[in-house]
Amino acid sequence: MYSVLEPEKKYINQWSKAKNIEVKCVKENLNSETVIMAKGFDGINFQQIHPLEPIVYQKLHEYGIKQLTARMVGYDMIDLTLAKKYDLIVTNVPAYSPRAIAEMGLTQAMRLVRKLGYYDQRMDNLDFRWAGLESTEIYNLTVGVVGAGHIGGATAQLYSALGAKVIANDPIHRVELAPYLEYTDFNTLLKQADIVTIHTPLNDSTKNLFNKAVFKKMKSTSYLINMARGGIVETSDLIEALQTKEIAGAALDTLADEGQFFEKKALPEEIPEDYKILHAMPNVLLSPHSAFYTDTAMKNMVEMGLNDVAAIVEGKRPQFQVLDN
Ligand code: NAD
Repeated sequence: MYSVLEPEKKYINQWSKAKNIEVKCVKENLNSETVIMAKGFDGINFQQIHPLEPIVYQKLHEYGIKQLTARMVGYDMIDLTLAKKYDLIVTNVPAYSPRAIAEMGLTQAMRLVRKLGYYDQRMDNLDFRWAGLESTEIYNLTVGVVGAGHIGGATAQLYSALGAKVIANDPIHRVELAPYLEYTDFNTLLKQADIVTIHTPLNDSTKNLFNKAVFKKMKSTSYLINMARGGIVETSDLIEALQTKEIAGAALDTLADEGQFFEKKALPEEIPEDYKILHAMPNVLLSPHSAFYTDTAMKNMVEMGLNDVAAIVEGKRPQFQVLDN
């Protein structure tokens, strides 16, 4: 099991004991240097956002491994064509806890709506004035969900429970979400939404979807929430839109050039320039790709991921095979 985080270990040990299956944990990511660690094992499990190098697929095949089981939702770091070429069944954990990400997005949106970044800045300077920071109330707002799948659907339910109007853009219309949202086209969503919250995967249709032209269509009072993948937003265009006040603020759990710098306390020179620019803005909230990080999510991602490793190794059908693989 690659990229094991300390808090995952108790859930891994519980699973291992219950199933009587040995699990070796390493903190390293799966890459050309660490793939050798998989030799001699029946299956592997991993989580990482950086693309797997082509040699990794070949080596796993040579070691007799039959699967690439990611204990995470996104699988854009896996080349499905290469996986197929080397007979590696790809699985993910499609819904370890949609609420974890949905609640984080809502929390950040409420902080933006209440202008808490500006208040924090003032309070840090012992400036107790509230003038100029009039806010609004969530039930008066229209929320636009871009990508209403597991996480977008959970997000719609949360905002709907708070009385907000929820509109959504997604090529798939789900009847079960009818009580919580209305579907609309992308341009109408941009025009009407006070909060635009992104919950699509990163793919060809969403890469840099949020760019200069799109920010121009959004309300100047609107907030952008990106809890999905950094590559969906063109960061330099976002910075410009914030600087020119085309939009009012943003909460970003992920940026296109995010590195491994959240794994240890990074030195200032290791932090990309765009993070520094955004971090200095009181109307921008940054978090270190931590929306998933709850107890429920950790337990589920470990158990669901390992169950599928075991299933494939035992020649059974995994629960979460990625369909187009
Ligand atoms: P999901 O597959 O259940 O839902 C994604 C939805 O997006 C689908 O309904 C799909 O039809 C829709 N979609 C795809 N392309 C679209 C487009 N161009 N325009 C509009 N809609 C589009 O996935 P999910 O479980 O809801 O997760 C969504 C994404 O969230 C993941 O792919 C992952 O990248 C990200 N994620 C982030 C974190 C985090 O910690 N920040 C954690 C988990 C997942």
